[in-house]
Amino acid sequence: MTGHVDAGKSTLMGRLLYELGRVDEKTRVANERGSSKAGKSSFSWAWELDGTIEERERGITMDIALQSLSTPRRQVTILDAPGHKDFIPNMISGAAQADCALLVVDAITGEFEAGFDRGGQTREHLLLVRSLGVSQVIVAVNKLDQVNWDQSRFEEICGLLRAFLVQSGFPSSKTSFIPVSAMLGVNLVNRTSADAAVLSKWYNGPTLVDLLDELEPPTREIASPFRLPISNVFKGQSSGTGVTGRICGGVVQVGERLRVLPGDESAVVRLIDVEEQSVPWAAAGTNATLYLTSIDPIHLSIGSVLCPPSDIVPLATVFTARIIVFDIQLPITTGASIELFHHSRDVPATISKLIATLDRASGVVTKKNPRVLTKGTSAEVEISLRAGTLSGPALSARPIPLEAFSVNKDMGRILVRRGGETISAGIVQNIIC
Ligand code: GDP
Repeated sequence: MTGHVDAGKSTLMGRLLYELGRVDEKTRVANERGSSKAGKSSFSWAWELDGTIEERERGITMDIALQSLSTPRRQVTILDAPGHKDFIPNMISGAAQADCALLVVDAITGEFEAGFDRGGQTREHLLLVRSLGVSQVIVAVNKLDQVNWDQSRFEEICGLLRAFLVQSGFPSSKTSFIPVSAMLGVNLVNRTSADAAVLSKWYNGPTLVDLLDELEPPTREIASPFRLPISNVFKGQSSGTGVTGRICGGVVQVGERLRVLPGDESAVVRLIDVEEQSVPWAAAGTNATLYLTSIDPIHLSIGSVLCPPSDIVPLATVFTARIIVFDIQLPITTGASIELFHHSRDVPATISKLIATLDRASGVVTKKNPRVLTKGTSAEVEISLRAGTLSGPALSARPIPLEAFSVNKDMGRILVRRGGETISAGIVQNIIC
């Protein structure tokens, strides 16, 4: 879930959970009290989600809140990505795990425009999720109660976004638009209230839950070899060392021996936890905690990848990638120093070659060997990892476990940062060495 700050993402999520019976009346009243005490009563629905004190005080969602809900046919996990500009890196780790984008836009006159114009985050977020391989989008046009459920306003917003989505490479068959009021709970689960009656004069399509229910189920990489990029390591009581992460491929079972890459170490899976329940096995698409034994915890670090010893992840120092360049001031040139992000790992690297610029929607080469990459361009580049230090004896770069997007989608997504700013995101094409 993404959108400009204040579009109503947290409100939408809080209200949706309430309508689906996931938040009871008592909690709702407590949230209402809590938020009005803090002088932010209009944020009471969002209060449910915005967990940390800092978020509550600022009234914005900063980290990615994970919420799961059930529609008649699906179990949906919603990652509430922050809309605030400073938090783009968090938003990216959310997008890297997403199967569908739920974009929330504010229908209030001038507000949609502020989020959609240059400098607003709507465009950047959409380009970002697309560049990370997400192709399904639901656009919730929110706060329609504030514009008297005006159909022409809804159509106007859809028209502007539709053109932009097609241009950015989202297939129109996988894009849907839905009019809602998150605060009043209209058209989320049903359209039974008095407000909904006004909407029903011109809208009889699916509700938000209907759309979630109709999403294409993700093609999880269950048949591919097991991969778990470690996002956290902690000391388990007597059960070994705990590692958490999202399984990016295959299946793991208790008792299995796994290789830890990079390095030569291996470990044995003592226990597996999924949603705080101990389970005998876990498969791709799951956020799991594995407790590992027969290994010194020193060899387990954030960013390392667990895989079967018989089918290990390739290690790369040089590879090609297809990237999209964000709204940057300083263009990217050959030899540019960057920080490369792959799952939770971050390593120094260089853009060693600008191979070609590409048409954003079709991917067709528009120019070979460009001199620079400016904002908004899509391009194919070569990236080479660098050794950590620039002084002293020449160190060689330490390879990282990486796979092409065509082999494993989740293992083939990367982000490029420069001077603390995310300048580009993309997918791995070929590993060169
Ligand atoms: P976020 O930053 O996208 O998570 O936005 P919030 O959910 O925090 O909402 C921002 C503000 O918009 C809050 O004051 C909400 O009460 C208000 N809001 C959200 N949805 C609606 C809606 O459907 N109608 C109206 N009138 N206000 C809304």
